[in-house]
Amino acid sequence: MKAKSESLKGLGAKYGATLRRRYTKIYLMLKKRRNCPMCGSMRFKREAIGIWKCDKCNYKVAGGAYDL
Ligand SMILES: [Zn+2]
Repeated sequence: MKAKSESLKGLGAKYGATLRRRYTKIYLMLKKRRNCPMCGSMRFKREAIGIWKCDKCNYKVAGGAYDL
């Protein structure tokens, strides 16, 4: 029982580090400013996972979960 929980803990730490590195990359991508492909407005952002929307002209596009 003790050995099992220790190995699980080790795996969790390893997974956590990888996830954190991946999250940093994704976070930078999300923070990056984008231009709307339709009107060129900078108010183009991710509305939901996989959906990008322009606040100015309401242009909506399906893209990747974290990047277009
Ligand atoms: Zn637009």
